[in-house]
Amino acid sequence: MKKIENIQSLAEKICKAEDIILVGHINPDGDSVGSLMGMKGYLEALGKRATAVVPNAYPDFLSFLDPDQQVLFHSTTPEEVCSAVNGAHLIICMDFNSLKRIDSLGDVIAGAPCEKVLIDHHPGPDPIFSLVYSYPELSSTCELVFWIIEELSGILGKEMPLASAIALYTGMMTDTNNFANSVLPSTFMMAGKLMEAGVDKEWVQKMVFGGYSQERMRLMGYMLSQNMKIIPQYDAAVMVLTKEIKEKFNFADGDSEGFVNLALNIKSVKVSAFFTEGDEFIRVSLRSKDDFSVNRLSRGYFNGGGHERAAGGRLFMPVGEVEEYFVKSLGEFIEKEKQAHLL
Ligand code: 5GP
Ligand code: MN
Repeated sequence: MKKIENIQSLAEKICKAEDIILVGHINPDGDSVGSLMGMKGYLEALGKRATAVVPNAYPDFLSFLDPDQQVLFHSTTPEEVCSAVNGAHLIICMDFNSLKRIDSLGDVIAGAPCEKVLIDHHPGPDPIFSLVYSYPELSSTCELVFWIIEELSGILGKEMPLASAIALYTGMMTDTNNFANSVLPSTFMMAGKLMEAGVDKEWVQKMVFGGYSQERMRLMGYMLSQNMKIIPQYDAAVMVLTKEIKEKFNFADGDSEGFVNLALNIKSVKVSAFFTEGDEFIRVSLRSKDDFSVNRLSRGYFNGGGHERAAGGRLFMPVGEVEEYFVKSLGEFIEKEKQAHLL
């Protein structure tokens, strides 16, 4: 059991609010959609109107968590999102630590007149929130939401519905890369309690890992055999997904989810980078093993941040220059970390 401090304040804010907005981050992943749907289900069980909003669409394989397509995308229905946000009595942001992580939805949230609460597991939360539940040591935001709802249930007297339990289990499972990273005794405790509450773990497993398209599998094979480069002097690996490759494999959003983890299966690889060419910028995804901080690497060189072993960011340069920039940045970064005795 994980003790969450000051839960009474959240319980009071929820009690006073009729209309609650739940906000998730850009390119929503399992932890984002899971925490939104988990909290939404619980708030609805309490008789609240709860609306989940995200900057853009989540990948198709997560649609089983939102069967009635209730999550609003700011990119497709901006007016609906703005009017919902402006009419809300309380805003709860989850699984991100700064309004920069929600693009233009950030201005809408910042301008809303009601109080804003943060529930998150990334270090360094923005000071704009009036109430913050920040637990970087926890596996996932879904785990944090689970322990928060456990305590809220004790105060407000409702159990979490099964759909919420499934959503929270899913987000925890995906954010830990299927129980591989950042898993604590509290994470297994949560998993056990959720199974007792009726979550069918094999069904969730099938929905998440058994629902891929043929295009994704072929793209994965191509990236590993033709695209991945190993940089032996820095124990690193890099893959660059260009628009050209996307077209060749009929790429759909989410098709490359998790590819950045693959190179870490190689014994000698301690840092893995995955770059994706988009319309406005190159999306950066970084993962590491041992004591290598990709959070610091991303803050220093890739306009981003994240966790110690999983981080992301953005690059603004032609895709053809990305690999060279990565190698150069990594060399500089490793040198600095060594000088500071951090590596
Ligand atoms: P992913 O590689 O799965 O896109 O992101 C891994 C982690 O890096 C996310 O959980 C998030 O914490 C962080 N992250 C991804 N993109 C960004 C970004 O642009 N800025 C910041 N600050 N963090 C990011
Ligand atoms: Mn997360």
